[in-house]
Amino acid sequence: MMNEKLAKMQKKVKKYLDEDRYQHTLGVMYTAGALAMCHGIHIEKALTAGLLHDCAKCIPPEKKIKICRKNHILISEVEYANPGLLHAKLGAHFAEKKYHITDADILCAIRCHTTGRPAMSELDKVIYIADYIEPGRIELPNMAAVRKLAFQNLDACVIRILEDSLIYLESRNIPLDPLTEQTYRYYKELEENSK
Ligand code: FE
Ligand code: FE
Repeated sequence: MMNEKLAKMQKKVKKYLDEDRYQHTLGVMYTAGALAMCHGIHIEKALTAGLLHDCAKCIPPEKKIKICRKNHILISEVEYANPGLLHAKLGAHFAEKKYHITDADILCAIRCHTTGRPAMSELDKVIYIADYIEPGRIELPNMAAVRKLAFQNLDACVIRILEDSLIYLESRNIPLDPLTEQTYRYYKELEENSK
């Protein structure tokens, strides 16, 4: 681990995650670091956001809702129905309050790592993509192509992932966060306009 601050955070994160989630977290952290190198993005920010992106993941659903309420974090209808979605907002909250992250870019990347958002920053995209392609992820169809694309074109890669996730969510009848749909529409339009 390259610096003391990150090493300390890594130890702390480990305590709050189960083994699988911790392994996934390390995968996302290193993948985010590699993508940052490739695309000329701040490496330490990418590593930090990757390390903390799922720090609230292993909290039970009712407790997620409770902590959000207590801290005046807005819960949408979809999130009430599927509290797992809250781990992103809550992760950003913990990153700030418990890991003392003040960098707005890092907090934003954590907050939008599940749904994406229209007009994502480069760091947002890196974390969104790293979460999907890290080496420990089960091999989804198209994974090899998505992984390659990640190191070539961040926007194109985001679109691919959104498309594949929309198909996946629909096929399993999992309710869609409106923000995922907005993100997809935004990037699809961007792609159309650049043709
Ligand atoms: Fe997550
Ligand atoms: Fe994750």
